Amino acid sequence: MTVKPDWKWIFGLSIDSELAWGAVRVDAATEGCPYPEPFEAICGKLSDLPVTLSTNNYHEHIAQCLRTLKEAPDTEFLKKVEAIGVSTIGIADHLNDRLMSIARRNLIPGQGKYLVNFAQLFSEIFPDISRIRIQNDATAKCLYRYEAHLAHNPKEPVDLLFLAMFSEGVNGGLVRSARSGSMQWGEPVASLLHQELGHQFPPRHPADFAFDPAYSGCPIHLHCFEALASEVRLRKQWGEDVFQHPEHPAWDIIAHYVAHFCWNMVLAIPPQKIIILTRNASVDFQYRVRAIFGQINNGRSMTGPYVSYPELERPDFISVLPREMPPYLDGVYGALEMARLELIDARRTIFELSDEEKHKRLHQLRNTKRS
Ligand SMILES: [Zn+2]
Repeated sequence: MTVKPDWKWIFGLSIDSELAWGAVRVDAATEGCPYPEPFEAICGKLSDLPVTLSTNNYHEHIAQCLRTLKEAPDTEFLKKVEAIGVSTIGIADHLNDRLMSIARRNLIPGQGKYLVNFAQLFSEIFPDISRIRIQNDATAKCLYRYEAHLAHNPKEPVDLLFLAMFSEGVNGGLVRSARSGSMQWGEPVASLLHQELGHQFPPRHPADFAFDPAYSGCPIHLHCFEALASEVRLRKQWGEDVFQHPEHPAWDIIAHYVAHFCWNMVLAIPPQKIIILTRNASVDFQYRVRAIFGQINNGRSMTGPYVSYPELERPDFISVLPREMPPYLDGVYGALEMARLELIDARRTIFELSDEEKHKRLHQLRNTKRS
């Protein structure tokens, strides 16, 4: 028996170096993933999010961009949107649908305050929609890649996918598979807050023993992964040109940190697959990352790797992929994937609590912390 498709519009908002949006019609009747086809999202950039934005006008700037978009003569279809997803940089409170702060942009409203309340924001723009789901950018992008992987490899589902981003910042997102009968979808592995893996302190590459803190890519630390391996560090030390030259020696240094980032994750919560998003997805860079990872895993052993499981032995256990072009697309696709999950309400597993239960649990935790 075939199920009749039930086409619905969803909307995705991506807050990254740029502010961008996407909308697409998906089939809400079946829970199957819409990738790779039909996934013909209409996408666009809303603004460059200029650095002059402050904690006071951030919310209003986004609201104004969305108002303009919705009032444009060729965006009639936005009136039909039924679910919204948001992918955002910074600290995202996904339980209360808020963006708390973006340290990289010096947007830190302070204790108890926040930058954007998405429920409030969207209630002005899409007053009839209560279906909103937000995640930080790493988790949102991991969700999208999870579904894309599933669509391309239906016979090789991944139970735990780790996505690492080496872009303006450094972070990673984790998605595990959730199943109900024959249905399968991705669920973020996140508790009260998201992972902040870019602020771990890696062993330094020998060329970085005398690292000049002026090149640090992290606004908080001098020697974390983000400080040493982000695009900000690359740009500060070697200039924009380095992104056009995948053979530049700087990438040897970055490969060292990427391999250690993967290693930390394999030790903590062994994923079945790792995807790295970076500006350098050359064959040579991939080879170096995998080779260094292998050296770390072998350590001083003469007999073989320390950690071993079947997926880790696969040549594509670590895949290095280029960031989508234009760069905002990864975030938009991630946001759309969350909107889709929200639309089909694919949270019906024992892993997930209902919203009401979640808020009750959160409230209890906060009260416990205070007392
Ligand atoms: Zn840091």
